[in-house]
Amino acid sequence: MTKVAIDGPAGAGKSTISKKVASRLGFVYIDTGAMYRTVGLKAVRCGIDTTDAEGVTSILPKLDIDIRHEGVEQYIYLDGENVSDKIRTPEISMAASNVSAIPAVRVAMVDMQRKLAENHDVVMDGRDIGSFVLPDAEVKIFLTASVDARAQRRYQELMGKGEVVSFDEVKKDMIQRDTNDSTRAASPLVVADGAQVIDTSELNLEESIEKVVEYVRSNI
Ligand code: C5P
Repeated sequence: MTKVAIDGPAGAGKSTISKKVASRLGFVYIDTGAMYRTVGLKAVRCGIDTTDAEGVTSILPKLDIDIRHEGVEQYIYLDGENVSDKIRTPEISMAASNVSAIPAVRVAMVDMQRKLAENHDVVMDGRDIGSFVLPDAEVKIFLTASVDARAQRRYQELMGKGEVVSFDEVKKDMIQRDTNDSTRAASPLVVADGAQVIDTSELNLEESIEKVVEYVRSNI
């Protein structure tokens, strides 16, 4: 099985690019951020403070998360409900960032992620895929972009969905999530050993996809 690990900060275009790359290669796309978002949503629904490690850990034994694939689309189910859209709000982004710093949450999610990669060729995106989840991945990419470029993309994505947000708010949230992700003790966001850094600040979507596909093809 071939494993492609794509890591990087929020808003670098990881999900969109990884999905397209998986489709071009005929691989299964696995969005690990969606898993942390779903844990965040569950905690919020249970009225648990997402920074309360003990509280969040207590919901893990009963956590019912199911990942389904239709073509290259990944759908995520929580307690039997398709929550793929409900996890894409700014509130749940922050909840995901908070719960992802809790070691027990990471252990549970990493276990699911490794199982998903066992039986398929995968493109898996996240923060710690090349460094921790799939350290033996054949290809590792660290996708990044300037904070302004990333905030601008996320702002447009949210506006497109009709969310009422300001650019400054989105940028502030992004900086906060960058700090959370890179400074947490458990699997912080780092450039994995052997990862190729690709900066998409000056590239449009098509150019970014081309660059990543080219790199993957010449390395598998
Ligand atoms: O990629 P996405 O923005 O959907 O991820 C949501 C949050 O989940 C991130 O801010 C990050 O804190 C966390 N995450 C993680 N490890 C991963 C994927 C996501 O900690 N492999």
